[in-house]
Amino acid sequence: MSFSSDSMSNLMKACVLRSTAPIEQNPLDLADVPIPQPTGNQVLVRVSACGVCRTDLHVIEGELSRQILPIIPGHQIIGEIEKIGDQVTNLEVGRRVGVPWLHQTCGRCEYCRAGKENLCENALFTGWTVNGGYAEYVSAPGDFVYPIPEIFSDLEAAPLLCAGIIGFRSLRLSGITGRSPGRRLGLFGFGAAGHVAIQVARYWGADVYAFTRDSRHQQLAGELGAVWVGGSTDLPPVKLDSIIIFAPAGELVITALKVLNKGGTLALGGIHMSPIPSIDYQLLYDERVVRSVANNTRQDGLDFLQVAAEIPIKTQRQIFDLVETNTALNALKHDAVRGAAVIKV
Ligand SMILES: [Zn+2]
Ligand SMILES: [Zn+2]
Repeated sequence: MSFSSDSMSNLMKACVLRSTAPIEQNPLDLADVPIPQPTGNQVLVRVSACGVCRTDLHVIEGELSRQILPIIPGHQIIGEIEKIGDQVTNLEVGRRVGVPWLHQTCGRCEYCRAGKENLCENALFTGWTVNGGYAEYVSAPGDFVYPIPEIFSDLEAAPLLCAGIIGFRSLRLSGITGRSPGRRLGLFGFGAAGHVAIQVARYWGADVYAFTRDSRHQQLAGELGAVWVGGSTDLPPVKLDSIIIFAPAGELVITALKVLNKGGTLALGGIHMSPIPSIDYQLLYDERVVRSVANNTRQDGLDFLQVAAEIPIKTQRQIFDLVETNTALNALKHDAVRGAAVIKV
Protein backbone atom coordinates (compact mmCIF):
# COMPACT_ATOMS: atom_id res chain seq x y z
CA MET A 1 0.00 0.00 0.00
CA SER A 2 1.44 3.39 -0.86
CA PHE A 3 0.36 6.76 0.38
CA SER A 4 1.78 9.83 -1.20
CA SER A 5 0.49 12.08 1.55
CA ASP A 6 2.48 12.30 4.76
CA SER A 7 0.70 10.35 7.49
CA MET A 8 1.98 12.83 10.05
CA SER A 9 0.18 15.67 8.30
CA ASN A 10 -3.55 16.28 8.55
CA LEU A 11 -4.03 15.88 4.82
CA MET A 12 -5.14 12.93 2.70
CA LYS A 13 -5.53 12.23 -1.00
CA ALA A 14 -9.16 12.27 -2.15
CA CYS A 15 -11.16 12.41 -5.40
CA VAL A 16 -13.21 15.58 -5.02
CA LEU A 17 -16.25 16.50 -7.14
CA ARG A 18 -16.49 20.30 -7.24
CA SER A 19 -19.17 20.63 -9.92
CA THR A 20 -21.28 18.03 -11.68
CA ALA A 21 -20.31 17.17 -15.26
CA PRO A 22 -20.37 14.26 -17.71
CA ILE A 23 -17.81 11.66 -16.62
CA GLU A 24 -16.09 11.98 -20.01
CA GLN A 25 -14.81 15.34 -18.70
CA ASN A 26 -13.09 13.54 -15.79
CA PRO A 27 -14.65 15.82 -13.14
CA LEU A 28 -13.10 14.10 -10.10
CA ASP A 29 -10.08 16.06 -8.96
CA LEU A 30 -7.40 14.17 -6.99
CA ALA A 31 -6.58 16.66 -4.24
CA ASP A 32 -5.10 16.99 -0.76
CA VAL A 33 -7.90 17.61 1.73
CA PRO A 34 -8.09 17.46 5.54
CA ILE A 35 -8.43 14.02 7.13
CA PRO A 36 -11.84 13.93 8.87
CA GLN A 37 -11.68 13.78 12.65
CA PRO A 38 -14.15 11.35 14.25
CA THR A 39 -16.25 12.77 17.06
CA GLY A 40 -19.01 11.31 19.22
CA ASN A 41 -20.29 8.07 17.68
CA GLN A 42 -18.04 8.21 14.61
CA VAL A 43 -15.12 6.05 13.57
CA LEU A 44 -12.28 7.06 11.26
CA VAL A 45 -11.59 4.37 8.68
CA ARG A 46 -8.34 4.08 6.74
CA VAL A 47 -9.68 3.05 3.33
CA SER A 48 -8.13 0.09 1.52
CA ALA A 49 -10.74 -0.47 -1.21
CA CYS A 50 -13.84 1.25 -2.56
CA GLY A 51 -16.20 -0.33 -5.05
CA VAL A 52 -17.47 1.70 -8.02
CA CYS A 53 -21.26 1.96 -8.38
CA ARG A 54 -23.54 3.35 -11.06
CA THR A 55 -24.99 5.68 -8.44
CA ASP A 56 -21.59 7.44 -8.38
CA LEU A 57 -22.18 8.28 -12.04
CA HIS A 58 -25.62 9.72 -11.24
CA VAL A 59 -24.06 11.84 -8.46
CA ILE A 60 -21.16 13.04 -10.63
CA GLU A 61 -23.31 13.77 -13.67
CA GLY A 62 -25.90 15.68 -11.63
CA GLU A 63 -28.84 13.35 -12.25
CA LEU A 64 -30.09 13.22 -8.65
CA SER A 65 -32.43 15.81 -7.23
CA ARG A 66 -30.21 16.98 -4.41
CA GLN A 67 -26.48 17.36 -4.56
CA ILE A 68 -24.08 18.76 -2.01
CA LEU A 69 -20.82 20.12 -3.40
CA PRO A 70 -17.95 19.71 -3.08
CA ILE A 71 -18.25 16.01 -2.26
CA ILE A 72 -16.03 12.92 -2.25
CA PRO A 73 -18.10 10.11 -3.88
CA GLY A 74 -17.75 6.37 -3.25
CA HIS A 75 -19.92 4.20 -0.99
CA GLN A 76 -18.65 0.62 -1.02
CA ILE A 77 -15.77 1.09 1.36
CA ILE A 78 -13.56 -1.45 3.12
CA GLY A 79 -10.92 -0.36 5.59
CA GLU A 80 -9.54 -0.52 9.08
CA ILE A 81 -10.63 1.63 11.99
CA GLU A 82 -7.83 4.01 12.89
CA LYS A 83 -9.56 6.25 15.47
CA ILE A 84 -12.85 6.22 17.32
CA GLY A 85 -15.02 8.96 18.79
CA ASP A 86 -15.56 9.11 22.55
CA GLN A 87 -19.08 7.62 22.36
CA VAL A 88 -18.12 4.50 20.38
CA THR A 89 -18.34 1.42 22.58
CA ASN A 90 -18.88 -1.49 20.18
CA LEU A 91 -15.80 -1.10 17.95
CA GLU A 92 -12.09 -0.79 18.48
CA VAL A 93 -9.08 0.53 16.59
CA GLY A 94 -7.74 -2.04 14.11
CA ARG A 95 -11.12 -3.67 13.33
CA ARG A 96 -11.90 -4.19 9.63
CA VAL A 97 -15.26 -2.73 8.64
CA GLY A 98 -17.37 -1.85 5.62
CA VAL A 99 -18.91 1.60 5.16
CA PRO A 100 -22.05 1.38 2.99
CA TRP A 101 -24.37 3.73 1.12
CA LEU A 102 -26.76 4.09 4.09
CA HIS A 103 -24.59 6.40 6.16
CA GLN A 104 -26.98 7.28 8.96
CA THR A 105 -30.69 7.39 9.75
CA CYS A 106 -32.52 9.44 12.35
CA GLY A 107 -34.20 6.67 14.32
CA ARG A 108 -37.13 9.00 15.07
CA CYS A 109 -39.17 9.52 11.90
CA GLU A 110 -42.25 7.40 11.15
CA TYR A 111 -40.28 5.19 8.73
CA CYS A 112 -37.44 4.53 11.16
CA ARG A 113 -39.94 3.69 13.89
CA ALA A 114 -41.74 1.30 11.54
CA GLY A 115 -38.56 -0.65 10.72
CA LYS A 116 -38.22 1.01 7.32
CA GLU A 117 -35.06 3.02 7.89
CA ASN A 118 -34.26 2.70 4.17
CA LEU A 119 -36.99 5.32 3.70
CA CYS A 120 -35.82 7.60 6.56
CA GLU A 121 -36.81 11.25 6.09
CA ASN A 122 -33.47 12.45 7.44
CA ALA A 123 -31.07 9.84 6.12
CA LEU A 124 -27.52 10.67 5.13
CA PHE A 125 -25.88 8.80 2.25
CA THR A 126 -22.19 8.05 1.88
CA GLY A 127 -20.61 9.69 -1.14
CA TRP A 128 -23.75 11.69 -1.94
CA THR A 129 -24.72 13.84 1.04
CA VAL A 130 -21.60 13.15 3.13
CA ASN A 131 -18.05 12.41 1.99
CA GLY A 132 -17.35 8.90 0.78
CA GLY A 133 -14.54 6.51 0.08
CA TYR A 134 -12.61 7.63 -2.99
CA ALA A 135 -10.08 8.84 -0.46
CA GLU A 136 -7.46 7.58 1.98
CA TYR A 137 -9.81 8.07 4.94
CA VAL A 138 -13.54 8.30 5.62
CA SER A 139 -15.51 8.80 8.80
CA ALA A 140 -18.81 7.07 9.54
CA PRO A 141 -21.11 6.43 12.50
CA GLY A 142 -20.03 3.27 14.32
CA ASP A 143 -23.61 1.95 14.38
CA PHE A 144 -23.81 1.96 10.59
CA VAL A 145 -20.62 0.13 9.60
CA TYR A 146 -20.57 -3.62 8.97
CA PRO A 147 -18.20 -6.31 10.18
CA ILE A 148 -16.85 -8.04 7.07
CA PRO A 149 -16.73 -11.87 6.99
CA GLU A 150 -13.16 -13.22 7.19
CA ILE A 151 -13.61 -15.24 4.02
CA PHE A 152 -13.48 -12.11 1.83
CA SER A 153 -10.39 -10.05 1.05
CA ASP A 154 -10.81 -6.26 1.05
CA LEU A 155 -11.00 -6.14 -2.75
CA GLU A 156 -13.48 -9.04 -2.87
CA ALA A 157 -15.69 -7.49 -0.22
CA ALA A 158 -15.99 -3.95 -1.60
CA PRO A 159 -18.58 -4.69 -4.34
CA LEU A 160 -20.75 -6.51 -1.82
CA LEU A 161 -21.51 -3.29 0.03
CA CYS A 162 -23.89 -1.72 -2.49
CA ALA A 163 -24.09 -3.88 -5.61
CA GLY A 164 -24.49 -6.83 -3.27
CA ILE A 165 -26.78 -5.39 -0.61
CA ILE A 166 -29.07 -3.49 -2.99
CA GLY A 167 -29.18 -6.51 -5.30
CA PHE A 168 -30.17 -8.62 -2.29
CA ARG A 169 -32.99 -6.28 -1.30
CA SER A 170 -34.09 -6.18 -4.95
CA LEU A 171 -34.25 -9.98 -5.01
CA ARG A 172 -36.41 -10.04 -1.89
CA LEU A 173 -38.75 -7.34 -3.18
CA SER A 174 -39.08 -9.14 -6.52
CA GLY A 175 -40.30 -12.25 -4.69
CA ILE A 176 -37.06 -14.26 -4.69
CA THR A 177 -36.54 -15.23 -1.07
CA GLY A 178 -34.62 -17.87 0.86
CA ARG A 179 -36.33 -20.76 -0.88
CA SER A 180 -37.31 -20.27 -4.50
CA PRO A 181 -36.75 -23.56 -6.33
CA GLY A 182 -37.73 -23.31 -9.99
CA ARG A 183 -38.85 -19.70 -9.70
CA ARG A 184 -37.93 -17.86 -12.87
CA LEU A 185 -36.00 -14.62 -12.38
CA GLY A 186 -35.08 -12.13 -15.11
CA LEU A 187 -32.18 -9.70 -14.67
CA PHE A 188 -31.99 -6.69 -16.98
CA GLY A 189 -28.47 -5.27 -16.92
CA PHE A 190 -25.63 -7.52 -15.85
CA GLY A 191 -23.02 -5.35 -14.17
CA ALA A 192 -21.78 -5.44 -10.59
CA ALA A 193 -25.22 -5.93 -8.99
CA GLY A 194 -26.40 -8.51 -11.53
CA HIS A 195 -23.32 -10.69 -11.24
CA VAL A 196 -23.76 -10.90 -7.45
CA ALA A 197 -27.58 -11.27 -7.51
CA ILE A 198 -27.41 -14.27 -9.85
CA GLN A 199 -25.21 -16.12 -7.35
CA VAL A 200 -27.69 -15.53 -4.51
CA ALA A 201 -30.70 -16.40 -6.71
CA ARG A 202 -29.13 -19.67 -7.86
CA TYR A 203 -28.17 -20.53 -4.27
CA TRP A 204 -31.86 -20.15 -3.43
CA GLY A 205 -32.84 -22.40 -6.34
CA ALA A 206 -34.14 -19.87 -8.86
CA ASP A 207 -33.57 -20.13 -12.63
CA VAL A 208 -32.00 -16.93 -13.94
CA TYR A 209 -32.63 -15.32 -17.33
CA ALA A 210 -30.12 -12.57 -18.15
CA PHE A 211 -30.95 -9.70 -20.51
CA THR A 212 -27.97 -7.56 -21.50
CA ARG A 213 -26.77 -5.92 -24.70
CA ASP A 214 -23.05 -6.27 -23.98
CA SER A 215 -21.39 -9.47 -25.17
CA ARG A 216 -18.91 -9.54 -22.25
CA HIS A 217 -21.79 -9.26 -19.80
CA GLN A 218 -23.67 -12.00 -21.69
CA GLN A 219 -20.65 -14.26 -21.44
CA LEU A 220 -20.28 -13.64 -17.70
CA ALA A 221 -23.99 -14.39 -17.13
CA GLY A 222 -23.57 -17.71 -18.92
CA GLU A 223 -20.50 -18.59 -16.87
CA LEU A 224 -22.39 -17.81 -13.66
CA GLY A 225 -25.14 -20.25 -14.56
CA ALA A 226 -27.92 -18.28 -16.27
CA VAL A 227 -30.30 -20.77 -17.94
CA TRP A 228 -30.89 -18.29 -20.76
CA VAL A 229 -28.95 -15.22 -21.97
CA GLY A 230 -30.16 -12.70 -24.53
CA GLY A 231 -30.28 -9.08 -25.61
CA SER A 232 -32.67 -6.75 -23.80
CA THR A 233 -35.43 -7.14 -26.41
CA ASP A 234 -34.97 -10.86 -27.07
CA LEU A 235 -37.84 -13.08 -25.95
CA PRO A 236 -37.10 -15.86 -23.45
CA PRO A 237 -38.87 -19.20 -24.06
CA VAL A 238 -41.05 -18.80 -20.94
CA LYS A 239 -42.68 -15.98 -18.94
CA LEU A 240 -40.83 -14.92 -15.81
CA ASP A 241 -42.12 -14.78 -12.22
CA SER A 242 -39.78 -12.06 -10.99
CA ILE A 243 -37.71 -9.48 -12.83
CA ILE A 244 -35.17 -6.94 -11.62
CA ILE A 245 -34.02 -4.04 -13.79
CA PHE A 246 -30.56 -2.79 -12.80
CA ALA A 247 -30.03 -0.69 -15.95
CA PRO A 248 -31.17 2.96 -15.72
CA ALA A 249 -33.30 2.85 -18.91
CA GLY A 250 -37.03 3.50 -18.38
CA GLU A 251 -38.06 1.87 -21.67
CA LEU A 252 -36.94 -1.47 -20.21
CA VAL A 253 -40.00 -1.37 -17.93
CA ILE A 254 -42.19 -1.95 -20.99
CA THR A 255 -39.85 -4.60 -22.36
CA ALA A 256 -39.79 -6.41 -19.02
CA LEU A 257 -43.58 -6.29 -18.51
CA LYS A 258 -43.99 -8.07 -21.85
CA VAL A 259 -42.17 -11.12 -20.45
CA LEU A 260 -43.51 -10.98 -16.87
CA ASN A 261 -45.89 -13.74 -15.81
CA LYS A 262 -49.35 -13.05 -14.33
CA GLY A 263 -49.00 -12.04 -10.69
CA GLY A 264 -45.28 -11.45 -11.17
CA THR A 265 -43.24 -8.60 -9.72
CA LEU A 266 -40.91 -6.23 -11.55
CA ALA A 267 -38.45 -4.51 -9.18
CA LEU A 268 -36.47 -1.46 -10.27
CA GLY A 269 -33.09 -1.57 -8.57
CA GLY A 270 -31.59 1.83 -9.41
CA ILE A 271 -31.77 5.23 -7.73
CA HIS A 272 -32.27 6.94 -11.10
CA MET A 273 -34.01 5.92 -14.31
CA SER A 274 -34.83 7.73 -17.52
CA PRO A 275 -38.59 8.41 -17.94
CA ILE A 276 -40.81 5.34 -18.21
CA PRO A 277 -42.94 5.43 -21.39
CA SER A 278 -46.71 5.15 -20.96
CA ILE A 279 -47.82 1.63 -20.10
CA ASP A 280 -50.65 -0.15 -21.91
CA TYR A 281 -52.88 -1.34 -19.06
CA GLN A 282 -53.00 -4.84 -20.55
CA LEU A 283 -49.27 -5.16 -19.82
CA LEU A 284 -49.88 -4.45 -16.12
CA TYR A 285 -53.22 -6.27 -15.77
CA ASP A 286 -53.38 -9.76 -14.23
CA GLU A 287 -51.94 -8.47 -10.98
CA ARG A 288 -48.47 -7.68 -12.19
CA VAL A 289 -46.58 -5.40 -9.78
CA VAL A 290 -43.99 -2.74 -10.62
CA ARG A 291 -42.06 -1.37 -7.67
CA SER A 292 -38.88 0.56 -6.95
CA VAL A 293 -36.17 -0.42 -4.50
CA ALA A 294 -34.90 2.42 -2.32
CA ASN A 295 -31.68 2.00 -0.32
CA ASN A 296 -31.56 -0.75 2.29
CA THR A 297 -31.95 -1.29 6.00
CA ARG A 298 -29.00 -2.29 8.16
CA GLN A 299 -30.66 -5.68 8.60
CA ASP A 300 -30.65 -6.21 4.81
CA GLY A 301 -26.89 -5.65 4.90
CA LEU A 302 -26.31 -8.03 7.81
CA ASP A 303 -28.52 -10.71 6.25
CA PHE A 304 -26.82 -10.37 2.89
CA LEU A 305 -23.26 -10.53 4.24
CA GLN A 306 -24.17 -13.72 6.10
CA VAL A 307 -25.59 -15.36 2.97
CA ALA A 308 -22.68 -14.03 0.89
CA ALA A 309 -20.17 -15.76 3.18
CA GLU A 310 -22.26 -18.97 3.22
CA ILE A 311 -22.35 -19.30 -0.59
CA PRO A 312 -19.58 -17.89 -0.78
CA ILE A 313 -20.09 -15.14 -3.38
CA LYS A 314 -17.25 -14.71 -5.82
CA THR A 315 -16.99 -11.19 -7.19
CA GLN A 316 -15.29 -10.55 -10.52
CA ARG A 317 -13.23 -7.44 -10.21
CA GLN A 318 -11.38 -4.95 -12.30
CA ILE A 319 -8.95 -3.05 -10.08
CA PHE A 320 -8.02 0.61 -10.50
CA ASP A 321 -5.78 2.94 -8.45
CA LEU A 322 -7.22 6.02 -6.72
CA VAL A 323 -5.65 8.22 -9.39
CA GLU A 324 -7.64 6.24 -12.02
CA THR A 325 -11.09 6.76 -10.47
CA ASN A 326 -12.35 8.86 -13.41
CA THR A 327 -11.11 6.11 -15.76
CA ALA A 328 -12.97 3.44 -13.79
CA LEU A 329 -16.21 5.44 -13.91
CA ASN A 330 -15.81 6.04 -17.65
CA ALA A 331 -15.40 2.29 -18.13
CA LEU A 332 -18.52 1.62 -16.05
CA LYS A 333 -20.58 4.10 -18.06
CA HIS A 334 -19.60 2.37 -21.30
CA ASP A 335 -20.25 -1.21 -20.08
CA ALA A 336 -16.52 -1.96 -20.26
CA VAL A 337 -16.25 -3.48 -16.78
CA ARG A 338 -16.55 -7.24 -16.35
CA GLY A 339 -18.16 -7.71 -12.95
CA ALA A 340 -17.32 -4.87 -10.57
CA ALA A 341 -14.78 -2.06 -10.70
CA VAL A 342 -12.91 -1.53 -7.44
CA ILE A 343 -10.58 1.30 -6.47
CA LYS A 344 -7.54 0.09 -4.53
CA VAL A 345 -6.43 2.82 -2.16
ZN1 LIG B 1 -35.66 8.36 10.15
ZN1 LIG C 1 -24.33 2.00 -4.99
